[in-house]
Amino acid sequence: MSAVQQEWMFAARCKGVPANIMFPARGESVEAAIRVCSECPVIEECLEYALVNREVHGVWGGTSERIRRRMRRARNKAIPSAVRLSLRRN
Ligand code: SF4
Repeated sequence: MSAVQQEWMFAARCKGVPANIMFPARGESVEAAIRVCSECPVIEECLEYALVNREVHGVWGGTSERIRRRMRRARNKAIPSAVRLSLRRN
């Protein structure tokens, strides 16, 4: 997880789970990590955090890297470019 601890992270089901499960190497299955996430009480907070902070490695909020990329692209398309520009300036 990120160096910046968020309150929801204290309830994370993946605490103590070996890193190679939550951060599988390229080409390895994400199924075990997604099973851990499926029982996590903070899955929504985790996914939102990963999307906002562009976490590109590992499983976050029950999603793989590929799924989060798709979600970010979909979000970017949904936000008009003028709004995106003003968000970057702030
Ligand atoms: S949703 Fe998954 S990665 Fe996120 S805190 Fe919970 S167990 Fe960990």
